[in-house]
Amino acid sequence: MIHRLPIPTPFRIGRVNCYLLDEDPLTLVDVGPNSGASLVALETALREHGRGVEDLERIVITHQHTDHVGLVGVLAERSGAEVCALDVFAPVVEDFDAYADRNDELAQALMRRHGVAPDMVTVLAAMSRAYRGWGGSAPVTRRLTDGGSLEFASRSFDVLHRPGHSPSDTVFYDAASGDLLAGDHLLKTISSNPLIAPALGGRSGEPEGERPRALRMYIDSLRATQAMEIATVHPGHGDAFGDHAALIEERFAMHDRRARKIFALIGEQRRTAHEIAQSIWGNVAVTQAYLTLCEVLGHVDLLVERAEVVEVEEDGVVRWAASS
Ligand SMILES: [Zn+2]
Repeated sequence: MIHRLPIPTPFRIGRVNCYLLDEDPLTLVDVGPNSGASLVALETALREHGRGVEDLERIVITHQHTDHVGLVGVLAERSGAEVCALDVFAPVVEDFDAYADRNDELAQALMRRHGVAPDMVTVLAAMSRAYRGWGGSAPVTRRLTDGGSLEFASRSFDVLHRPGHSPSDTVFYDAASGDLLAGDHLLKTISSNPLIAPALGGRSGEPEGERPRALRMYIDSLRATQAMEIATVHPGHGDAFGDHAALIEERFAMHDRRARKIFALIGEQRRTAHEIAQSIWGNVAVTQAYLTLCEVLGHVDLLVERAEVVEVEEDGVVRWAASS
């Protein structure tokens, strides 16, 4: 049995779904952000199913975002459950702070390079540091492999690396029942942001490579998921849903429209990615500077790939221009 436990978060997204797999071993997939309120909500939700934190035997994490990984240390310590994560993701779960440092460094460098004002970058860096407290770490006792499996007494899930929304995105697929535990790889009502974060290896690219092409990677991941036979998607936010293939097709069309719109803006005049974000999202591009920057860069990457735009760098700041 898969039970959805929607846990409140302090973030704009609202509740995050943890999943209680009433199986042998008793398993929790994703854990909620590291806060007292989330822990209380999780304990209440577990109790509704006749369980407590101490009963958990296995914890599985789908990806690196704080609303999914935050309570992992608290829960692992209280329950003694094994902690399972994809092999390339395990170092992040074990030392969230070190990865957050690298992530902040990359984000700040990208924002400066793509036209966000330096004083704004400083403000956003402080905000990002404040948000870090919602994260958490625990020793990973079981490293999963892409293409491997996660076994239970009476069912088995394929472990599949699907980077794009984040470099660590992992989905779990039970081919017999058609259930997909999707994390934030595919959500019904909102498109998952292709957030640029340091690569982790495997399908997410090598850590020392150039800037990860997050949307490019995400589209490849979605294409792989689209080809699967899935009955029910259990997402990281919102209700379960079916007909994933049509939804993914809609997402492809949306990304294509957005790429066309960005191409039109670049055609009018050379612009930085941040200027493009401001003309599309207005003030949101300031308050959510990194998120909107990642959206623009993701689509610009598609245009570069089609040889429609080129990068023009001047004094360390990049503007995008139509190819002549
Ligand atoms: Zn996420």
